[in-house]
Amino acid sequence: MGAAQGLYFDDYSPIGDILVIAVCAVMIILVAASYVNNTRTFRMFLSMVILLTLGAVSDLIYHDAYVHITDGNYTFVYVGRVFYHVFLFSVLYVMILYIAELQRLEIKIKVPVILLSSIILIIVLIRDIVTTANGTGFKIDKNGDAITNDNMFLIGYFSFISISILLMIIYRERLFKRVMVGFYGTMAMSFLVLYNQARHGQSSLTAATFLFPMLAMLYFIHSTPYDVELGAIDAKALNNMVKYNYERKSPLIFMSLYLPEYDAEGKTIPKEMRAIIRKFASSMFNGAVLFQINNGHVMLMAKKNYNPDYENRINKIINAFYVEYEKFQVDYKIVMGQSIDEISRKCEYISFINNVHRNMEINTIHEIDYDDITEFNKYEYILEELGDIYRTRDLRDSRVMAYCQPVFNIKEQKYDTAEALMRLKLPEIGMVYPDQFIPLAEEHGYIHVLTEIILQKTCDEIRHLLSEGYEVKRISINVSVPELREENFIDDIEKIIKESGIPENKVAIEITESQTESDFLIMKKTIDALKDKGVKFYLDDFGTGYSNMERIMEIPFDIIKFDRSLVLACGTSEKSEKMVGSLANMFSNMDYSVLYEGVENELDEKRCTNMSASYLQGYKYSRPIPIIELNKFFTKINSK
Ligand code: C2E
Ligand code: CA
Ligand code: CA
Repeated sequence: MGAAQGLYFDDYSPIGDILVIAVCAVMIILVAASYVNNTRTFRMFLSMVILLTLGAVSDLIYHDAYVHITDGNYTFVYVGRVFYHVFLFSVLYVMILYIAELQRLEIKIKVPVILLSSIILIIVLIRDIVTTANGTGFKIDKNGDAITNDNMFLIGYFSFISISILLMIIYRERLFKRVMVGFYGTMAMSFLVLYNQARHGQSSLTAATFLFPMLAMLYFIHSTPYDVELGAIDAKALNNMVKYNYERKSPLIFMSLYLPEYDAEGKTIPKEMRAIIRKFASSMFNGAVLFQINNGHVMLMAKKNYNPDYENRINKIINAFYVEYEKFQVDYKIVMGQSIDEISRKCEYISFINNVHRNMEINTIHEIDYDDITEFNKYEYILEELGDIYRTRDLRDSRVMAYCQPVFNIKEQKYDTAEALMRLKLPEIGMVYPDQFIPLAEEHGYIHVLTEIILQKTCDEIRHLLSEGYEVKRISINVSVPELREENFIDDIEKIIKESGIPENKVAIEITESQTESDFLIMKKTIDALKDKGVKFYLDDFGTGYSNMERIMEIPFDIIKFDRSLVLACGTSEKSEKMVGSLANMFSNMDYSVLYEGVENELDEKRCTNMSASYLQGYKYSRPIPIIELNKFFTKINSK
């Protein structure tokens, strides 16, 4: 373009504009067929696509009009050309807004940038209109030859491009480097095309050069790929859908399918099931989106307004699901319901549903109700407090309570050991029991601090009891297997016991069997080290998992704690009793002491005593009590 003379119209080929229109249409088709996060940047992107299409259409039209004009009145051509420029500059203008939005420019940078761009836009367009109108700019003479003696288009074009490039260079740190490389690369392609068409005195591809950076935007920023087999998209898009609809007060309905069997790293829902899920998801609701939350967890969301009869639809899905379940027999948990403002506001459906899963039976379908929200709020509150306890790291934090269950020593016929059990006492909800916070603390890495606190409080009480003249053989605390991976585990434990000034052998650690080889190795290393210092070790919950005797023998446990389930089993069948009895016998022959947990009555007691028991623990003797009440069970050394 530029100051090209005369041949202006002969140089034009509609190919460029046809290409632009076609590619813009392709982008719109892709956007319509995929799940796009409806964000501000997306709306800007879409307006660029539309403006560019309009630009290409005007370009086509005014060039076409020129050919068909016979009466020498070129007004239509002038107007068409001005429109072409208006649309192209608008694309450039929106592109700058788009970049500013992507880079999250601060107001004090953003405002001058927008102001400058607006001024350029206005000057360029007014100049274009005025010079065209008064005949000093673009003009078609009597012979029908076009004269352009104004470089305003080029000046405007390069001003906008310079602003974009400057922003992209100065604030390059604000976007992921590879994305920036993508933008630079596509823009370089645009310049290459511009340069080459200029060399050939062409202008047909000008609008087409805008397409390249726009393709980069579509690819990098606005695409959320489907899992092509399942038709699901990434979970993070779920939050966007929730947010978008919450802001517009548009209620959603959702159904979540959880298949625990496949919910592990490297696993996926099998192909046949994926096909069925895909079919359900796309046919049962209008406008539903399927999200892949985890390997074995998918969730369907749809607008309630599009599905006023959603209850029927849900029933249909569930009936169809039962039919499929008959075939596959895979364990499941299904949760469904309508969006809840409280959860939507914070975009917390995933943790909300996970929490519901925690509290529901396997192979059941649960519809969300108010209790779930109360339960979830409680969960969040507990998590918050745990986080605070973790950060405060006060080893005498009053929110962590040491309870204790005295253990009966059969040989001595008295209580001289006990197990420390943790409870939380939180300001807003009072007492919280281990099943409600231990798994949480383990998941979030808070467990070790809790252990330290319980150990501290246990040591405090041991010292107190000893100073009062009580006979304390030892008190055990519970430690979780994942905790052993804490960097300073051994040192932390040792330090607390040492600083309490009590002998190391007054403390025991209860631990359950390791499930993996690497857990086992860490466990062995830790136990060996602390054992050397005098700390005792109990194997907790024996009989609840798949025991590996070889591994158990490799670790120098002092006491094997037979789980209450074994005690219960002995009460129901003679065969179990024989088996448990001979296991206990074997352990005691190998110099382990056997402790039975969950002894609730005299019958349990009698049975356990006959099965090589050294220690008995359970409600028969005492429920867990605050640790300071242990003196009610323990005896003074010279009191016999
Ligand atoms: P566990 O180590 O097996 O603890 C024994 C559990 O059985 C305790 O539940 C206790 O109250 C309960 N129990 C005692 N006697 C009987 C009985 O006769 N019948 C029945 N049915 N139950 C009895 P609690 O205190 O709710 O603790 C539950 C679990 O939480 C513990 O199981 C342990 O795994 C964990 N836990 C408790 N305190 C701590 C702790 O300080 N650290 C860690 N890591 N885990 C803890
Ligand atoms: Ca225990
Ligand atoms: Ca136990």
